[in-house]
Amino acid sequence: MTVEDPDPTASAPAADAAAGSSAPRQQGDLERYTALFAGRTRVMKSSAMRDLMALTERPEVISLAGGLADTTLFPPEQLAKVLSQMAAADSARALQYAPTEGIADIRPCLAEVMAAEGMSVDPGEILVTTGGQQVIDLMCKTLVDPGDVVVAEAPTYPGAVPTFSAYEADLVQVEVDDDGMRIDVLEETLDRLDREGRTPKFIYAIPTFQNPSGVTMSLERRRRLVEIANERQILVLEDNPYGLLRYDGGEQLPTLYELDGGRFVVYAGTLSKILSPGIRVGWAVAPGPVRQKMVIGKAGSDLNSASLSQYFVAYYFRDEDWRTHVQRQADVYRQRRDVMLDALERHMPDGATWTRPGGGLFVWVTLPAFLDTTDLLVRALSRNVAFVPGRGAYLDGRGGHSMRINFSGVGEEDIREGVSRIGSVVAEQIEL
Ligand code: PMP
Repeated sequence: MTVEDPDPTASAPAADAAAGSSAPRQQGDLERYTALFAGRTRVMKSSAMRDLMALTERPEVISLAGGLADTTLFPPEQLAKVLSQMAAADSARALQYAPTEGIADIRPCLAEVMAAEGMSVDPGEILVTTGGQQVIDLMCKTLVDPGDVVVAEAPTYPGAVPTFSAYEADLVQVEVDDDGMRIDVLEETLDRLDREGRTPKFIYAIPTFQNPSGVTMSLERRRRLVEIANERQILVLEDNPYGLLRYDGGEQLPTLYELDGGRFVVYAGTLSKILSPGIRVGWAVAPGPVRQKMVIGKAGSDLNSASLSQYFVAYYFRDEDWRTHVQRQADVYRQRRDVMLDALERHMPDGATWTRPGGGLFVWVTLPAFLDTTDLLVRALSRNVAFVPGRGAYLDGRGGHSMRINFSGVGEEDIREGVSRIGSVVAEQIEL
């Protein structure tokens, strides 16, 4: 993070307090090294969530800020069993380097996860990555020169913002409503960019149970987005960590990848939300020439994603029913979502609105426009509750009166208590 970093959460008084006595020393260090930094560090932006994680680790804080799968739901004895089977049969290979593309045994498993959402993919086309996060990074590494346009939703995944800024992308954000990205606004935006002689390198979209808003793109808009991509020959990065975490009945919508057949849609998947974020296993499916460049880019970053994790996944899929665990999580998260929506109803003052997600992990709360959630966070932290301020989901300063709250990472009691504390902080600010 640089001195110029405008990220308000990083310089909030609460953050300074949490940094404690190391703060002055860090300042000295910064001055010593600044002259050595690459130009891009001037525009690099830290992640609002990452900054917050340091603060929310205090046990007394109820954190509705993270996007964490509840890993206590995975039976420890099952983990021990799978790991010991893996060690007995494949220790040497699991401890060895692996091909950059991923080990052969894991790729059919990831194709199976895609098939559960209606996508048919040849396992050979799958590039195993270090989480879905690395797919965003590799897309930028492969496609983005400084100043190139990337289009994303407004709001977008706060963890992608540091990636776009590190590659000096010019991020253009297109608003979402209850049916996902406004495709009419997207078309106007693309027309405007076209007149300026600028074609986006890709459109970054999270169509299903979006992070942070929780909304899902309608079928009509999905179809139109894929048409636009094909007509204008623009790549779309479809980031889909949450598609299998569905809580309501109703139709499962086709992914952009399925609608497009992989011509202009690059698919990013991850096991982080359905199995474990700690194993850091994600994947990309991209048209051949794009994939080849991504493989070269990945080799330069980490040679290969952890072999140990990949073998673990291969053995887990072979010996256990991964769908049962996804279902178990969905059942718990559905309940927590309902508790959160109920608590919002009870504790949020008039003037606040929020989304009602049919899946995923987040609710997006919008407060009256004169409130600032970055300021509110400082107050909320003093009451030991945390959320992600909306500004982290934009690069253009919008989002100041919104916040993202998560319902998967803490139990029902904490959700009730956390929302009640946020509600009272908001009410106090409104009354001021
Ligand atoms: N994309 C989105 C939309 C996410 O919400 C997340 C995690 N919160 C990621 C990518 C990255 O996750 P991971 O690297 O753990 O797969």
